[in-house]
Amino acid sequence: MLIVMRPDAVDADIERVLKVIESLGLRGHELPGQSRTAIGITGNRGSVDPANFENLPGVADAIRVTKPYKLVSSDLRPEKSVIKVGNAFIGDGSLAMIAGPCAVENEKQVFDAAEAVAASGAKFFRGGAYKPRTSPYAFQGKGEDGLKILAEVRNQFGLNIVTEAMDEHGVDMVEKYGDCIQIGARNMQNFSLLKYVGKTRKPVLLKRGLSATLEELLLAAEYVMAEGNYDVILCERGIRTFANHARNTLDLSIIPAIRRLSHLPVIVDPSHGTGHNYMVGPLALAGIAAGSDGLIIEVHPQPEKALCDGAQALTTSQYTELFEQTKRIHEAMNIAATAAS
Ligand code: PEP
Ligand code: MN
Repeated sequence: MLIVMRPDAVDADIERVLKVIESLGLRGHELPGQSRTAIGITGNRGSVDPANFENLPGVADAIRVTKPYKLVSSDLRPEKSVIKVGNAFIGDGSLAMIAGPCAVENEKQVFDAAEAVAASGAKFFRGGAYKPRTSPYAFQGKGEDGLKILAEVRNQFGLNIVTEAMDEHGVDMVEKYGDCIQIGARNMQNFSLLKYVGKTRKPVLLKRGLSATLEELLLAAEYVMAEGNYDVILCERGIRTFANHARNTLDLSIIPAIRRLSHLPVIVDPSHGTGHNYMVGPLALAGIAAGSDGLIIEVHPQPEKALCDGAQALTTSQYTELFEQTKRIHEAMNIAATAAS
């Protein structure tokens, strides 16, 4: 059930609706919008009777939701959500660039990358301290020591830190040191982890699972939001297909598909989406042209020495040049959108 409030509804009207929801043993999620507030209801097994709400002051409509997800849906919030990450925004129409190494390896490697990322004008820095590796013998990340290096990057360069957590302890750590909790592709359906990050108040970057459908991705985001954390950014990072010329198949068609169904911002990861340095640029540009709110790109000062994902890492100069190109595509998209409206 979704309660749409009238544009002139006052706080007391919203409070009253939330109280009624609570009295039914359910949870109300208030999502203020540009023109009106909507309240999503979760926790019900069967349908909720609209008669509980439709005559309350300030209520415009009580609508039954037929889709399997509610809070991620554009039915709840017709306009796009803007997510604050540290001191910057994703989904506000700007081009969000999140760049940095796959893994935090040492201070010099991270600081060299951060210097280039900050100089390019990007506002977000990535780097994994907890790495999900296929082999248990591969480099697993530096853990808390790595997070401390990332926190130092924030202090010195003013970049907002996006970094992965793989378990509850990792979430606690990333909450302490970072600005945005990345949930990796392999954990997209780790439902207990999703619930756990849903209880934090840090924004979540949710990467699409290796073989996840759009509905599964949206339901994973719904897990986070149902716990009260509404700050979710979706990420297309490629899926497994029969194609073997690239590490994954970057599925850009999911961007307009997400736009049609959800208010959440979506970004593209052309690094994991292709696995090859020479493919990152073209797919980054294509991602922006397809309507992505931003990019997450792996950059390493010496890709040939990287402990993780070196083949797909851009050098700092390649990254700087690519960011300039993506800005031009982004501007062209804005001009086209203004001309069409
Ligand atoms: C990463 O961003 O470094 C990463 C491991 O990504 P994914 O979960 O998409 O594989
Ligand atoms: Mn990586």
